[in-house]
Amino acid sequence: MNREEIKENDRKYIVNMYDRSDLVFEAAKGSTVIDKNGRNYIDFAAGIGCASLGYNEPDWVAVVEDQLEKFQHTSNLFYHEPGVRLAKRLVEKTGYSKVLFVNSGSEANEAAMKMARKYGNRESGNRKHVIISLRQSFHGRTMATITATGQDRFHHDFDPFLQGSVYVDAGDTEALEIAIEENECCAVIMEFVQGEGGVITLDKDFVRKVAELCQANDMALIADEVQTGVGRTGTFFAYEQFGVKPDLVTFAKGIAGGIPMGGVLCDEKYADVFGPGDHGSTFGMNPIACAGANYVVEKMDDDFLAEVREKAEYLRAGLLKMKRVKGLSGLGMMIGVDVNGMTPAEASAKLLEAGVITITAGSRVRLLPPLNISYEEIDRGLSRMAEVLDK
Ligand SMILES: *Cc1c(COP(=O)(O)O)cnc(C)c1O
Repeated sequence: MNREEIKENDRKYIVNMYDRSDLVFEAAKGSTVIDKNGRNYIDFAAGIGCASLGYNEPDWVAVVEDQLEKFQHTSNLFYHEPGVRLAKRLVEKTGYSKVLFVNSGSEANEAAMKMARKYGNRESGNRKHVIISLRQSFHGRTMATITATGQDRFHHDFDPFLQGSVYVDAGDTEALEIAIEENECCAVIMEFVQGEGGVITLDKDFVRKVAELCQANDMALIADEVQTGVGRTGTFFAYEQFGVKPDLVTFAKGIAGGIPMGGVLCDEKYADVFGPGDHGSTFGMNPIACAGANYVVEKMDDDFLAEVREKAEYLRAGLLKMKRVKGLSGLGMMIGVDVNGMTPAEASAKLLEAGVITITAGSRVRLLPPLNISYEEIDRGLSRMAEVLDK
């Protein structure tokens, strides 16, 4: 199929849920994508942060291919080594007690919320079940996770929603205290840097207060690190930069380098809340995904993360020099750009024309580049962005 046929058939045969951009993927290497018409683009979005090591990193490909040739699926009725190795690696790296595996961010949050509910109900004679989330948050697209998502634009047309959900504004400690007092709460779920809401970093004192209140009220602090996790913000998880230790940490997007996978890390208190039959996922802990994830997690040692921070600084400094860039938000390689005189959608479309892939988030243009992007590719991306943003 040629470019136009692909677009036409997409519109004809695929349920229309996305406002796709004009780019038709043909090939990709490193942080550069080749369009069907042969044009190259610097990818500052990495498939919404999922291609965490860019495209076709040779050693990652080798590890995934190796597993592919052994067996591609087992179901969770059997043991396998790639899953156990990944679990051990994640637990040893983070200090959590256990992990469970699913296939996406929504499923990871869904599992964490179920776990917090089971614990809350068990400890309180079926009373403590309310889950608090923040306005402007995004936690996924399943019924439970859109309920937790604190943005009306995701809610219209889909009620009734899950019972036992309460929202407070990020930063409003008093509202949080009242919500905890007035409801039988089992958890707070939040992103430490709100991604879809606009790349908004939470205030450190607020985060510490949330952690304190969760601890004092025997509630789970669930860190939704689906977007912020796995090196994105310059530390393995974003919570490390806030001086707190959440009870449950959900991750997905970048974990397996572009293969679907998600999971929940559990501290001691929650590690044995689920027993056989409480939860499950047919594809969860898929061996190919685990092979990819083992490679990604092993790669993200202290040196790698230090380099991510340096590259993020470099990219941020380059962006701040551009006339139309009013300011930057986020942490590390999760960057929100405030653009003067253009809407984020206009800016992102113009940047694509100039040969750079970006996405938007709320009032900002959002960059989530591959974490191992080369300086050369950063420079090429910046000079193309300057054609749009520096005049
Ligand atoms: C992307 C995202 C999700 C949803 O992940 P899916 O894999 O699309 O289900 C949940 N939470 C956050 C913070 C995300 O960025």
